[in-house]
Amino acid sequence: MRPELDAAQARLADEVDRVLDAAPPGTDPLALFARLGAERLLAVHYPAAFGGRGLSLAHHVAAAERMGARGLPDVIHIVTVQAVGGALLAFGSAEQQARWLPKIAAGRLFGSLLLSEPGAGSDSAAIRATATPDSGGWRITGVKTWSVSTDRSGIALCSARTRAGRSRYDGISLFLLDLTDPAIQMTPVPRALGDPYFEVTIDGAYVGPDALVGPLHRGWSLLPSTIGFERAGFECLSRATSWMRATETEFHRLPRAARAAAAGDLVRLRAQVAGARALAFHAMHTADVLDVDEVLIAYSKLACARAGQAVARWAGEELAPTPELSAAVDEAPELTISGGPQELQLDLIATDFPIGRAVR
Ligand SMILES: Cc1cc2nc3c(=O)[nH]c(=O)nc-3n(C[C@H](O)[C@H](O)[C@H](O)COP(=O)(O)OP(=O)(O)OC[C@H]3O[C@@H](n4cnc5c(N)ncnc54)[C@H](O)[C@@H]3O)c2cc1C
Repeated sequence: MRPELDAAQARLADEVDRVLDAAPPGTDPLALFARLGAERLLAVHYPAAFGGRGLSLAHHVAAAERMGARGLPDVIHIVTVQAVGGALLAFGSAEQQARWLPKIAAGRLFGSLLLSEPGAGSDSAAIRATATPDSGGWRITGVKTWSVSTDRSGIALCSARTRAGRSRYDGISLFLLDLTDPAIQMTPVPRALGDPYFEVTIDGAYVGPDALVGPLHRGWSLLPSTIGFERAGFECLSRATSWMRATETEFHRLPRAARAAAAGDLVRLRAQVAGARALAFHAMHTADVLDVDEVLIAYSKLACARAGQAVARWAGEELAPTPELSAAVDEAPELTISGGPQELQLDLIATDFPIGRAVR
């Protein structure tokens, strides 16, 4: 495992700093993405022809981690560049890649995910949205929920059922939707904190044949790779590291005796976050967009989510509440649900664990 960035990754992270330092204070985050995109820093793992630098995923996460540490909304980055753009990079046609990836890499187009539905959350094979063949394309109808950043997005990757299928995993396809289509309506769903989720109603939206991403009817098997980054827990890691920083700041404000009593807890939390980060980077070192190690990714997501929750829980119990720490306490439960619930990760990890042999 490599907990530290190598020299090239560290240089990329420093480049991110320089671009952000050069922006006037108070610059809108979306404009900051465009500045990073102009320097080809937003998606360094995309090929140069699509606005990237042709580097590895590990380089990309080094740059993305610094963006998160500097307070950029990493959910936009993760969903747009990594999930939607990553799906196009891995399974999109040459036309789709040439049309969409340069705009995404430039920070001029944002994307969202329309996978979850009321009644089909973690179980992405339970969807009821349909795509019916029509005039060479499809007509899509359904309701999607828990979608984030949808109001800022121009496109969305959407799952829909294209045939009854031999099993519940067969007959699901992925489509790229134009969110400006009037047949698509979004309603904000208030959230305890932060930006709202969106419920998105798709009422017979027509998409042409060029909207299909990946093979027809076999979209379900593409989903683990599509949301692989989310499943690797980088969003959770970003929360864990920023909450750890806020925790340490407040820890240093404690009276001396209280600091001495809590020092052991703080070291354990720091080690838990560092271990989760090492695992997440290791998962990315061994991954490429077409070949995600599901089990390693599951370990990584679980470790990152639980590290974030441990920090938030401790800070909530032991420290004076600050706005950031109170938000951490409220937000922490989400970490083991978004991007796949912890039960799913435990299930995947169990497949790699020789418990059956041990019991026999
Ligand atoms: C911050 C955040 C951002 C999100 N962004 C998006 C997005 O952009 N687009 C999108 O499509 N979706 C998004 N989601 C939705 C997410 O991926 C899940 O689909 C959703 O949170 C599941 O919610 P649910 O109410 O359907 O819960 P369920 O999936 O029904 O889970 C309910 C409970 O059952 C448990 N559970 C689930 N599966 C199992 C299992 N196999 N075994 C045992 N227990 C299980 C869960 O841990 C949970 O406690 C987001 C969710 C969050 C929290």
